[in-house]
Amino acid sequence: MTVECSHTITRGRLGAKGSWCEGCGIKVLEVHDRPCGECRHYKPDGPRVGICLPKLMMVTADMNVTYYVVDGPGRYGLCFEAIEGTPS
Ligand SMILES: [Zn+2]
Repeated sequence: MTVECSHTITRGRLGAKGSWCEGCGIKVLEVHDRPCGECRHYKPDGPRVGICLPKLMMVTADMNVTYYVVDGPGRYGLCFEAIEGTPS
């Protein structure tokens, strides 16, 4: 019988983008090369802060989009969609 890891505790690694599960060691979060501020799902909520609507997560405009590469409740894959006028 296999107990599925829920990857609740993640940690970044020096010199690498993303976060890995402390329990089983798989990569849980990946970092996109574009910032949240260039995504159509970004809703500004102040000068440099806003909300990523699909994830309902507070983000900053210049923070690179972070997304899950594992499945699970409340875990979204890459939601980035470039707003018009920026490179896609
Ligand atoms: Zn895990």
